[in-house]
Amino acid sequence: MTLKFVTGWDPPLHVITLENSYVDSHRPDDHTTVFQAGAYAFFMALEYIKKINSWSKASIFSDSLSLLTALASPKRKSWMLKQLVDKIKTVNSHRRLSFHWAKAHIGVVGNEEADKQAKHGTEKNTIDSPVPRSHGTLRADIRRNILAEWQNEWAFSTKGPQTHKYLPNVSTKRNSYHPFLIQFLSGHGRFPYYFNKFCITNDPLCDCGEVGTPDHYIFECIHTQSLRLKLKNAQDRDQLIQDPHNLHIIHQIIAWVNNYIPRL
Ligand SMILES: [Zn+2]
Repeated sequence: MTLKFVTGWDPPLHVITLENSYVDSHRPDDHTTVFQAGAYAFFMALEYIKKINSWSKASIFSDSLSLLTALASPKRKSWMLKQLVDKIKTVNSHRRLSFHWAKAHIGVVGNEEADKQAKHGTEKNTIDSPVPRSHGTLRADIRRNILAEWQNEWAFSTKGPQTHKYLPNVSTKRNSYHPFLIQFLSGHGRFPYYFNKFCITNDPLCDCGEVGTPDHYIFECIHTQSLRLKLKNAQDRDQLIQDPHNLHIIHQIIAWVNNYIPRL
């Protein structure tokens, strides 16, 4: 992230040429947004204008229309913009300031130089300017950290091993599955293994002779073979239910199990 440069006007209103203008390039913190970088460039310009006592008027040009609009807006401003407005008021009390939008990338000399300085800033090894994190950046950081913590907890959790196999990654995206799919994902359904685990029956076996777990019916049982063959990439268990086609097949398999296992 880099700061854009600003150009000014020198009384009696002749444009400052790049030969006699002041140019500077700062590298702010990496989390700085484009908007914040533009605001910080304004701070730098105002600081510079303050130092030039011979200037009674000064104009600041920026290609950031969003920043200029936010400055002109009476709406609630961020902490950084409030600081900038205060700074403008202070400098404006001694000179007449005006602000202008310069369209970017159309060959405006000052703006082209600003882009050059911005690129130069990205190549600096050290950060020149600490900039507080914006609300948006903070929200994104908090969200990322919460998700990472949640993922870590889920990865090492001993609960829900059946669910874990098919949904290894946490997500805030809400999925709603048919009750048959929930039975399969949780392992809590009409499976011989489940009935036996909770002492409802004495036998955990499917009538094919294998333990009647949800995975048995999806991946092994001879009774469900014809449906199983329709599954796509069944070996990728963590991706299995991401495919709507597979969800449909699993639904059919569990529906078959529900009808086949005697009602208890
Ligand atoms: Zn079986």
